[in-house]
This record gives sequence, C-alpha cells and structure tokens, in this order.
Amino acid sequence: MNIQNELIARNACFAATFERGDMPMLPQLRTLIVTCIDARVDPAHILGLDLGEAIVARNNGGRVTRAVIEEILTLTVLVGAATGGQESAFNIVLLQHTNCGAQRLADPQLQGMLQQKFGIDVSEYAITDQAADLMTDIGRLADAPGMPGEMTVSAMVYDVATGAVQEVAPVKSLAEYRAANVDAAVPMAE
Ligand SMILES: [Zn+2]
Repeated sequence: MNIQNELIARNACFAATFERGDMPMLPQLRTLIVTCIDARVDPAHILGLDLGEAIVARNNGGRVTRAVIEEILTLTVLVGAATGGQESAFNIVLLQHTNCGAQRLADPQLQGMLQQKFGIDVSEYAITDQAADLMTDIGRLADAPGMPGEMTVSAMVYDVATGAVQEVAPVKSLAEYRAANVDAAVPMAE
C-alpha cells in the first residue's frame, strides 16, 4: 500500500462533502488540549471533538514542556490580535493516558542513551506517576512568566483499555492554582 495515495483517497471522500470552508480561525470551545502523540489517543475521537472546536498540541507523553509553553504564549498573542484585545485566555486541558510510551523515558539508562546518541534531554517528558506529573505540568504553566492568570487549566487521564477518562485536576484558573501554590515539582530542563 502506498500510504500517500491511501491518505489522498481518504481526503477525496472528506472533501467531497466538505461544506465548512467558512469556519473561524479561533477554536469554538476556546480550548487547547495538550496530549500524547500516541495514535490511540486522538482527542477528536476520544473526546468527540468536531472540526474547529479545539487546538491540540501533542508530544511524547503529552507533557508541558518548554516548547509547549512557547506555543501557548504565542497563541495568547495571536488570540489577542484576532479578537482586538478582547480575549487572550482560553482553557488548557492536559490529557495523559495509561500504557504511555513516555513512562519508559523515566528509565535513566534510556535517558542516558538518548543524551549520548542524539544530545536529547528527555527528562522533561518522562512520566513516572501520572497524577503527580500532571500536577507538575500545571505547576509549570503556573510558573511560566507571562502566562495569563485568567487561563483555566484542568487535567485528566485516558484509559486506553476502557476508553474512559478520569479527572485528575478540576478546572480552575491559573491564578487559583498559583494561589494554591501548585509549583512544578520537577522543573523543565534548561
Ligand atoms: Zn503516550
């Protein structure tokens, strides 16, 4: 099978009935989901998201890394520009999942190998305890200079065996999390 041809054929089916070329650029749910690149964890499917509803940022593990924080800060500026300064904040949903490959990145031997072979520091991606790591990631957002306090944040874990999500942290504003002293227990790599 030629994968490119396969995907173009699938797109032809999609485009044949496509009638939504006038969608606004801003996501309708004003929501950004940070999740893992795992193919089993596609938010459009598991959270029933429709086209244009949410922005999705994905990396190994779905961790809040320096790159993710840069994406979010850039987005606040773009949203501010698109709304004439009316809006800059939105909802951030952190979504990790069970049976995640990033749990292997906590292995010091694997970390050492990636560092030696590619010069990559994967420590900020490593998952050891999902609930604790999600709170660390909320702390990373709270600690990020310039991150708007009116941004809301929540966290959940998706179970790849059952298809169900479980809430780990409720929706609160970043200001509330800051007031509760949620700090990044494990800071990002410099
Ligand atoms: Zn994963």
